[in-house]
Amino acid sequence: MPVSPNQLQFTDSLTRTKRPFVPLVPDHVGIYVCGPTVYSDSHLGHAKSYVGFDVIVRWLRFLGYSVRYVQNITDVGHLTDDADEGEDKLIKTARLNQVHPLELAERFTRRYFRDMDALGVQRPDISPRASGHIPEQIEIITALIERGNAYVVNGSVYFSVASFPQYGRLSGRDVEDGEEGHRVQVRSEKRDARDFALWKAAEGGHILRWNSPWGVGFPGWHIECSAMSSRYLGESFDIHGGGLDNQFPHHECEIAQSQAAGHAFARCWLHNNLVTVDGRKMSRSLGNFTTIEQALSNNDAAAVRLWVLSTHYRSPADYSASSLTAVKGGLDRLRTALRGATEAAAQASVAPAALDASFLGEVAAAEGAFAAAMDDDCNTPLALGALFDMARVLNTATAKGQLSRGALEAACQRMLALGGTVLGVLDAAATNAVSADAAPYVDLLVQARTRLKNAKAFEHADWLRTELAARGVVIEDTAAGTRWRFSAE
Ligand SMILES: [Zn+2]
Repeated sequence: MPVSPNQLQFTDSLTRTKRPFVPLVPDHVGIYVCGPTVYSDSHLGHAKSYVGFDVIVRWLRFLGYSVRYVQNITDVGHLTDDADEGEDKLIKTARLNQVHPLELAERFTRRYFRDMDALGVQRPDISPRASGHIPEQIEIITALIERGNAYVVNGSVYFSVASFPQYGRLSGRDVEDGEEGHRVQVRSEKRDARDFALWKAAEGGHILRWNSPWGVGFPGWHIECSAMSSRYLGESFDIHGGGLDNQFPHHECEIAQSQAAGHAFARCWLHNNLVTVDGRKMSRSLGNFTTIEQALSNNDAAAVRLWVLSTHYRSPADYSASSLTAVKGGLDRLRTALRGATEAAAQASVAPAALDASFLGEVAAAEGAFAAAMDDDCNTPLALGALFDMARVLNTATAKGQLSRGALEAACQRMLALGGTVLGVLDAAATNAVSADAAPYVDLLVQARTRLKNAKAFEHADWLRTELAARGVVIEDTAAGTRWRFSAE
């Protein structure tokens, strides 16, 4: 089944090892990725995370796996403080904007999908809302109380960390030593400073509230992912992903809840690293963020994707406006190569050519390098290197012009499959559209140069030729007249 001859491997954050990926059910993959808390616009940190997982899912599908991709929408329970204190982020923002929290959630859920659609991120197969899965959350909390892993105090329910010795294994954090700061502020109703809320009693005017066996309240943030992942993927599933900033406490708590409730839970953990600005995490709280909408107002979506994929998903990406515009040249090179080969194919002979085999061999070698990079923990920077190699092969072939139409078309299809279907940075329509848009104006400038030459204004004619060359247009004076083409490098 898999197209690639390599063994797909992922680096599992829990065991800290890179190991072969073997799905629970052959040919099928269940993946759960923590989604956004919908109280504000998404920024480039979110773009890195969701483009990163988009490409992992695209690669799994490209290999032939049937994938069920679940990504939640957090619309309740995410507090402003990790220590179960503070206000619900949605309720706080909704109050400031004088709207209902779920009105705010709906608004930012739509904007989230709008941004992701614009970035070419394929939508998850299921996007469950936390507020729509209260019974599932209550069910797990009930099981945890029955098993002695949770306790009720004043209408709230807390998970007893002492009852789950593996707590801290994912993050490697020595919680007992490291949480003194929080311990000072601990609510007296917790038995242990490390314990975390599964259910909180709703106080006063808390708008988002549901009935439960412990009184009126609302779920803790972590329990929603335990509940929704098992609801849609089963008690054991292949991959759990999320941002590195969610590793602790969020994912640590998810593991504790699910496994204490008797679920085997995720078999492999993938963590996406952060976007930094001058070495500091891009975040709403630090105010150093660029929203996806802002980034897309003056950058091509494919350029934003290319910028994201130029860094491995497990490595941090340092953002600056110039780092984003810097990738544009690379994107143009890929598009120009594909366009040049597409145009050359249209003009090429249908008869097989002597150089076809060696050309297709070079294309296959680049394709093999691409697959090997992707199979090695989705190493997109290396895969992009292979894609640029393929672009060079196409450019050289196009310049020589001694290939058959079939060979050129096959090469274009392969490049589109890797750069488009897998990475989402190339598409035939955009590539052709650029060409179609620019061609009449290039024609005009080339005619102007010919007129200058005829008028013996050679200095001006040469200047025009140099300027066009700097913009990727090569002019050739032949016996049959002047021709031009787009060059790559
Ligand atoms: Zn989660």
